[in-house]
Amino acid sequence: MNRFLSVVAVADAVRVAVKTAPATATESVPVAQSASRVLAADIAADTDIPGFDRSVVDGYAVRSADTTGAGDSVPAILQCVGRVAMGTSDTNLVVRDSECTYIPTGGILPEGADAAVMVEYAEEAGGTILIKKPVSHGENVLLRGEDFKKGGTVFRTGRQLTPQDAGVLAACGCAMVMVAKKPVVGIISTGNELVPVTAIPGPGQVRDANASMLAAWLSEYGCVPRLYGIVKDDREAFDAAIATALPECDVVLLSGGSSKDDRDMTAGVIAGRGEVLIHGIAIAPGKPTIIGRIEGKPVFGLPGHPASAFVVLIAIVRPLLDRMLGLEKPLIRTVKASLAENIPSQRGREEYVRVRVENGKATPLFGKSGLLNTLVSSDGLICIPAGYEGLEKGNEVEVILW
Ligand code: AMP
Ligand code: MG
Repeated sequence: MNRFLSVVAVADAVRVAVKTAPATATESVPVAQSASRVLAADIAADTDIPGFDRSVVDGYAVRSADTTGAGDSVPAILQCVGRVAMGTSDTNLVVRDSECTYIPTGGILPEGADAAVMVEYAEEAGGTILIKKPVSHGENVLLRGEDFKKGGTVFRTGRQLTPQDAGVLAACGCAMVMVAKKPVVGIISTGNELVPVTAIPGPGQVRDANASMLAAWLSEYGCVPRLYGIVKDDREAFDAAIATALPECDVVLLSGGSSKDDRDMTAGVIAGRGEVLIHGIAIAPGKPTIIGRIEGKPVFGLPGHPASAFVVLIAIVRPLLDRMLGLEKPLIRTVKASLAENIPSQRGREEYVRVRVENGKATPLFGKSGLLNTLVSSDGLICIPAGYEGLEKGNEVEVILW
């Protein structure tokens, strides 16, 4: 058996992974529960917002020309002809030359008025109103449709909705909103040495860190993780776990056993039930990664080492999830920084290095590859492209923040 993996470039692997994506499934959710979901249909305003010209201050609705030159010493003197009430439209209320009406914040601007004066710059004096500051045409007024125009696109498909968006959606009359269904992602941990989180590891045993880490990341990324426990390095056990997970999930991730050792079952089991599309990616860490497909569903073999599994999750699996969610842009946050030290790298593979970011400087955290602590003491990853022999101190890098 050939024990060497013939690796493919990261960009090609991502392309293959994304191609395995099933079509974006959608569901309708109450707008109050839409925050952080990904919009699956364009949203148009069903009415002008605001629906009428309205004041943004408590004060007086005026004809702006009447206030020209008004000041503390020479105020404009206007006749108050009424009060605007909230929530109704009084068509009898008209502001003519040298007249004004009282208007509360959000009140409908009466006919004839074109601006509002804040109450702070007005004074009541013997039945008249003294205006002590001029206002220009449209001042302190929101015009009908100024926020959103009827029929205009408010949000486009692929946007991750924010709480503020929920407010706008409600204003647009959306009680329910179409969003991408959360992909259900199955996680199977493999390895004879693994024990559950609740166990005290015996000699040679380690707790299953990957399932919790992958699940936590997936939840944050808008997916529903499903844990299928720990499977021994045994072909039948692998096969049974995949058979259980596949019908219940949209994507299945196996961690561990993805290399080409005799004990590495993942590739064989995927090939037995479906097809292995890629086995080996020019990425470090994470070279022994498998991308497969069974019954039309993507199945990944992630390397068991937690840091490798995490990097592959972000670099290779994430773009697939982006596609399934219909995202217009990935949900990852990045920041630019200047590299604090030289980083050597091997040409021919994309290398992901954990870095700490402080005051605009990114410091690489080198450590033994088996250690977990740099995953938590770092702020994110930088990628050294495959064509580079490294990066130099002072180079500008883009950090993918955790
Ligand atoms: P493997 O990819 O199965 O060869 O595993 C590579 C390394 O990752 C080994 O040291 C495993 O013990 C470790 N490993 C595999 N799966 C997990 C897991 N779920 N949690 C923590 N470490 C793991
Ligand atoms: Mg293993």
